Amino acid sequence: SSTTTSDIPGVRERTLVAIKPDGVQRRLIGQVIKRFEQRGFQLVGLKMLQVSEELLSQHYASLHRKPFYPSLLRYMTSGPVVAMVWEGHNVVKSTRLLVGNTNPAEADPGTLRGDFSIHISRNIVHASDSPEVAQKEISLWFQRSELIDWECCDHGNIYHS
Ligand code: UDP
Repeated sequence: SSTTTSDIPGVRERTLVAIKPDGVQRRLIGQVIKRFEQRGFQLVGLKMLQVSEELLSQHYASLHRKPFYPSLLRYMTSGPVVAMVWEGHNVVKSTRLLVGNTNPAEADPGTLRGDFSIHISRNIVHASDSPEVAQKEISLWFQRSELIDWECCDHGNIYHS
């Protein structure tokens, strides 16, 4: 039987990352993708889209009563977004650390928000905050047919099998 590195527990964990309209407008798409690629995470879905209020309403269902919700909707529909699904061991937690605190003023230098943003209302990226939420967000943002199962040729150097 053939054992591959993708049989290692947790290696197929997935998270949703979205480059928000400010990140796209500021030409940061490449910089964001670069950080995930250099880490060794694997891209399994990618698209650019104009997000609907319907999708956002589901995506931010827990925030409907917040005072900033109307301006969050305007911000997130103000231009195109780049949505991605990244895969790898512990990818949900590692991505939150890579993205940094919700409030850029509290985000460490070296994080995406800490390096590229200043104010909480324009923090350039979204990342799922738990594996359970990640599964929900991925099925909300992507069709199954838009996600690609593949193994990168360098898997054996990133994971020990
Ligand atoms: N947000 C905002 N003002 C706030 C809190 C949040 O504009 O006081 C926006 C911000 O874009 C944030 C998003 O709402 O990224 C979702 O908030 P959440 O608390 O879920 O933070 P995240 O998971 O994005 O770090």
